[in-house]
Amino acid sequence: MTNILIVAEHQGGLLKKTALELATKAASLGGEVEVALVGNNLTKVDKELGAYGVKKVFLLSNPNLERYNTEGFAKVLTELIQERKSGIVLGAASPLGLDLFPRLAARLKVGLATDCTELRIDGGQLVATRPLYAGKVIADVIFSGTIQLATTRPNSFAIKETTPGSKAEVIVKQVDPGSLRAVMKDQVKGKSEKPDLTEAEIIISGGRAMGNAENFKVLNELAEVLGATVGASRAAVDSGYAPHDMQVGQTGKTVNPKLYIACGISGAIQHLAGMRTSKVIVAINKDPEAPLFSKADYGIVDDLFKVVPALTQEFKKVLSET
Ligand SMILES: Cc1cc2nc3c(=O)[nH]c(=O)nc-3n(C[C@H](O)[C@H](O)[C@H](O)COP(=O)(O)OP(=O)(O)OC[C@H]3O[C@@H](n4cnc5c(N)ncnc54)[C@H](O)[C@@H]3O)c2cc1C
Repeated sequence: MTNILIVAEHQGGLLKKTALELATKAASLGGEVEVALVGNNLTKVDKELGAYGVKKVFLLSNPNLERYNTEGFAKVLTELIQERKSGIVLGAASPLGLDLFPRLAARLKVGLATDCTELRIDGGQLVATRPLYAGKVIADVIFSGTIQLATTRPNSFAIKETTPGSKAEVIVKQVDPGSLRAVMKDQVKGKSEKPDLTEAEIIISGGRAMGNAENFKVLNELAEVLGATVGASRAAVDSGYAPHDMQVGQTGKTVNPKLYIACGISGAIQHLAGMRTSKVIVAINKDPEAPLFSKADYGIVDDLFKVVPALTQEFKKVLSET
């Protein structure tokens, strides 16, 4: 089996959940699993990646790579992939992954499978499963080049310590990103402390039925109790009830939580495109004919302004007992 290299995302050295998801998955594919982190002054990682089946961790450091930079990251990672002769390179289908991986593919002159929901090895080759046409078709794709590049949708794989107690070798490399034509000067942190929609395990979304921005309070209260992130349909965003970074769907974010609760959302194909791979879908809608009910695991036909506060009270009670 070939070497697998994971491009791990981190914030100030703290690994993102997607890195552990990818490590667990890669370890199950076989072959030697290696991880690369790019940044500045990186000397160690916060998690012992050896426990997740990783053999080597490369910390690629340079002051000009403190913040994400497409050109710089692509250059130093391409050099590492060539040096390590990695046969499979994996990353998250996150905003960073969506920007970086096409550059890597172009530099390496190989193909790329984006936003995959499953990976397996067949006859020594990577087979990547990816939804197409807004999730209406699920395709298994293989690669013709020698390096197989794929990004995977966050929350697609469970995180599991496969080799507890094992240590990964950590190699610190000073790298040269070359002369950069564009640099990020500043990064403004969003207000919310909640996980981003793309990484959230529980999402509660509101649609046009919310009526105004103030009414999102009922969803925020339930989200507080469940540790969920709040999302919105495009109709809610276009009406000014919620900002665009909360939009789920074809022209918003693609999400993949364990639980998706849609409140007053009809279930248009463009909304489904962004959330249909959620593990459990709950629809709350006054209209029993709403299309979302046909995709939901559980449905409640009633007024969301009655149902959501009742759920908040009930979850508060149940969770305080546990
Ligand atoms: C190119 C393109 C891209 C698009 N991209 C996206 C996208 O990324 N994301 C997206 O969401 N949409 C997208 N859309 C829009 C999409 O087609 C729908 O218009 C939109 O999803 C509808 O949002 P909604 O379900 O909130 O509103 P509606 O379709 O108006 O549904 C509102 C629902 O609320 C129910 N309701 C009303 N009052 C209550 C109440 N008190 N309690 C419970 N239920 C109630 C109604 O029965 C109804 O089912 C896109 C469209 C196009 C053409």
